[in-house]
Amino acid sequence: MKDDAQNTTSVWMATADTPSEPRLTEDIRTDVCIVGAGIAGMTTAYLLAREGRAVVVLDDGAIGGGMTGRTTAHLTNAFDDRYVEMERLHGEEGSRFIAESHTAAIDRIEEIITRETIDCGFERVDGFLFVPPGESTSVLDDELAASRRAGLRVELVDRAPIDTFNTGPALRFSEQAQFHLPVERYAEILGKLKPFFIHHPESKTHVKAVLTDLGCDPEKTHFDVPKMRSSTSDNYLTTGIAYAWHPHRDTWYSAPPNQINWWIPIYDFQSDNAMAFHPQYWNQKVQNDSKGYNYYEANKSYRGAVLTQYVKSDPRPLPKPTVPVALDPQIRLICPAGGLILFSGAQLHSSVPNTSGKTRFSIDFRVVNVDDVAAKRGAPVVDEECTGTTLRDFLRVTDLSRIPDDIVALYDSGTPSDGVLIYQHQSE
Ligand SMILES: Cc1cc2nc3c(=O)[nH]c(=O)nc-3n(C[C@H](O)[C@H](O)[C@H](O)COP(=O)(O)OP(=O)(O)OC[C@H]3O[C@@H](n4cnc5c(N)ncnc54)[C@H](O)[C@@H]3O)c2cc1C
Repeated sequence: MKDDAQNTTSVWMATADTPSEPRLTEDIRTDVCIVGAGIAGMTTAYLLAREGRAVVVLDDGAIGGGMTGRTTAHLTNAFDDRYVEMERLHGEEGSRFIAESHTAAIDRIEEIITRETIDCGFERVDGFLFVPPGESTSVLDDELAASRRAGLRVELVDRAPIDTFNTGPALRFSEQAQFHLPVERYAEILGKLKPFFIHHPESKTHVKAVLTDLGCDPEKTHFDVPKMRSSTSDNYLTTGIAYAWHPHRDTWYSAPPNQINWWIPIYDFQSDNAMAFHPQYWNQKVQNDSKGYNYYEANKSYRGAVLTQYVKSDPRPLPKPTVPVALDPQIRLICPAGGLILFSGAQLHSSVPNTSGKTRFSIDFRVVNVDDVAAKRGAPVVDEECTGTTLRDFLRVTDLSRIPDDIVALYDSGTPSDGVLIYQHQSE
C-alpha cells in the first residue's frame, strides 16, 4: 500500500525526525533483502540482524513513511476485526492463536524498547471497546464471550473512564501485563521486589507506627518483618515466590500459638482472590505432616533467592493436611486497600484459588505480646508437631530487641546442629 502518496500527515510525521538513508547506487551482496521499511520490514530486519544475518532494507520512500507513520500507536490485542469474526472464519483455535500472536507482538515490542532503551513513552494501560452512539451494545456481549474464548482477560464495564463523553457499556481489556509477562520474568521481578520491601528499614518504621497507632503496648509488642505477598490469577504462578497456600495453620510452621497475623491488602481485592478461613477446625484436629518440619532447616534451605526458581513446582516440604479438609463452611473477609484483617496464626486458612483475572498484592506481619508468650497463653495447640520456633524473628517495637532467650526456650523443641536459627537476608 503506497500510503506515503496519500495526503494525510500524522502527528509522528509532523514531529519526528526520521532518519534518511542514502540511495543504493551499486550492487551489494547480503543474506536477506527486505522490501519495505515499515514496522513489519524493520522489525524483521532488526531480529535477523540480531541473529547475525547481513540485512538490507529497501524502500522507495521514507523509513516508516507508509502506514506505519500513520498509526495511532495503540498496541492492542483487542483485534480490530473482532474475535467473533475470527471465530467464524478460523474457529476457536484460530481465534486463540490470533490473540496469542497479538499478545506476543506487544511483548516483543516492549522487550525491544527495554533492550534498546528507546524513549517512546511505552505504557501498559487498559484498552476499552465501545459502540458508536445509538448502536446496539449486544455486539459487546458477543465479543466479550469470543475474546474470553480466545484466552483474553476481558470484562464488561458500565462505561470507559472518559469524563467528557459517556461511552455507555464498554469492554475492558485490562491489566494485561501479568498475562504477557513470561512467568519466569515475573518471578525474577518479584524475587527482587519482595526482599527489597521486606528488608527496607522504612518497612519496620511503618509497622511500628501502625502498631503504636492502634494501641499496642510498644514495650510488650514484638513483630516480625512485614512480608509482601502476591497471589496470581488462573494458575499463572502458584509456587515458590507466589505460593498459593493450601489449608494450613502458621503453627504447623513453628509459629507460636500466641501469634496474631496482621494482613493488609495493597489494592482492593474481592472474594475470588481472597483468603479463606476454616474456623470449624479452631480446636479440631486436622491430620497433617508438620512432624517433618523444622524451622531452622527451612531457614537454611528454602528461603531467599532460591524461591524464584520454583516456577513449575515447589519442592519445599511445606506441612499440609494429610486427610481431606472440609473447606466449607468458610469465611472470606474483604476489606478495602490499606484495611486490616487480624487473625490468629493458629486459625486454619488457605488461599482461595484466584480466578479474578487480577493479582492480589498484600503485606502481612506477625505480632506477639511478650507477656502472652511468657505465660504460654494462646490458641489451643491441637495438631502441631513441627519443631523449632519462629520466636527469634520477633523484634520489640521500642528498640527492635529480640525476645529473651529464656522465654524463647519455652517453645524451642528442636535445634539441628546445621540449621539456621534466624534467617538473614544478604542485605542485612
Ligand atoms: C490512520 C491509521 C491508524 C492506525 N492505527 C493503528 C494502531 O493504533 N495500532 C496498530 O496496531 N495499527 C494501526 N494502524 C495499522 C498499522 O499502522 C499498520 O498495520 C502497519 O503500520 C503496517 O506496517 P507495514 O510495515 O506492514 O506497512 P507500511 O508501514 O505501509 O510499510 C510498507 C513500506 O513498504 C514500502 N513499499 C511498498 N511497496 C514498495 C515497493 N514496491 N518498493 C519499495 N518500497 C515499497 C512503503 O513505502 C512503506 O514504507 C493504523 C493505520 C492507519 C492508516
